[in-house]
Amino acid sequence: MPQFITCSNCEGEVTADSEFCPRCGYLLTDQTLWCETHGNNEAGGVCIICQKLVCEQCSEESDRRVFCLDHLDVRVDGDWAEVFRSTDVHDAELARSLLLDAKLHVEVQNFSSIGYAWDGGGDSPLSRSNLNNPAKIFVPLDEYIKGKEVLDEWQKGQPDFDSLN
Ligand SMILES: [Zn+2]
Ligand SMILES: [Zn+2]
Ligand SMILES: [Zn+2]
Repeated sequence: MPQFITCSNCEGEVTADSEFCPRCGYLLTDQTLWCETHGNNEAGGVCIICQKLVCEQCSEESDRRVFCLDHLDVRVDGDWAEVFRSTDVHDAELARSLLLDAKLHVEVQNFSSIGYAWDGGGDSPLSRSNLNNPAKIFVPLDEYIKGKEVLDEWQKGQPDFDSLN
């Protein structure tokens, strides 16, 4: 049974031997760690998306959570990161099935108009361009990179099977 401690920043539960909190990116170790990009700078935290050690120069804090500059724009909601959004319900459905095929954990928002469109009941018309409510797909924070890769390959339209290992 692993032992848990409470992160002093976000109050999330973290295993006692963790060097950082995966939920907020704060360092939990007394050891000095170094930025992966700027080797002379002491790391101030870990990007919660890619888990890279970052320093003040290459990170931003948002909502008391650490992001590297590459992932500053990723929308996060609790332990989930938004990996896809579209106003096209067919794209959204396809993206979801690709992510599920890749064995990722998936949560969706605003897919309801899709599910109920065909049952004849209700009064929500099937809208392929509901700009106010794009369908959104979330994956756990630590599956974001994988999810992005899956969707990038799909959007390139030419999956590169050689790169699978
Ligand atoms: Zn934390
Ligand atoms: Zn990052
Ligand atoms: Zn840095």
